Amino acid sequence: MGAGAVPYEKLKKIRACLFDVDGVLTDGRILLGEGPEGALHEHKAFHARDGQGLILASDAGLEVGLVTSRASAIVERRARELRIGHVFQNVKDKLQCVRGFLSGRGLRFEQLLYMGDDLPDLPVLDRAGFSATVPEAPREIRAGADYVTDLPGGSGAVREVLDLLFRTQGRWPKILKKYRK
Ligand SMILES: [Mg+2]
Repeated sequence: MGAGAVPYEKLKKIRACLFDVDGVLTDGRILLGEGPEGALHEHKAFHARDGQGLILASDAGLEVGLVTSRASAIVERRARELRIGHVFQNVKDKLQCVRGFLSGRGLRFEQLLYMGDDLPDLPVLDRAGFSATVPEAPREIRAGADYVTDLPGGSGAVREVLDLLFRTQGRWPKILKKYRK
């Protein structure tokens, strides 16, 4: 996305980052396979660099969470690996869920970065202080977002947004100091 179009002022206020899962942390495909006993297995592919970005966000003291309308043990497991503090699965009304999350922490919508890729995300994207989506999201979703990533969902799009957030909030020197020995 063209750098000139990014509303950096909005990013400076962000204290919490919530992400939709399918299509954002994954490429949106839901892979179903059958095991030897005929049991169905679901597979999702996550990107390691997104994971690293989410760890950095938590380490920086940002509230980090996932909000998905589906439910799977895979998401629970990945969230645990990445020390993600808030996991909301089986969410039928994302706006209601996010409202509860924010009020429970004394945060306002303008302090929320939200990333989603489809219609159930729209009411949250409309209200979030900074809204981001992926290039393959429907045009109507992209049209209202503050930022459309260059990278596709499941391929580093989350990291792209988080890097932008870290850069805008001046967090990179501290991050680099920790990693550059
Ligand atoms: Mg989605």
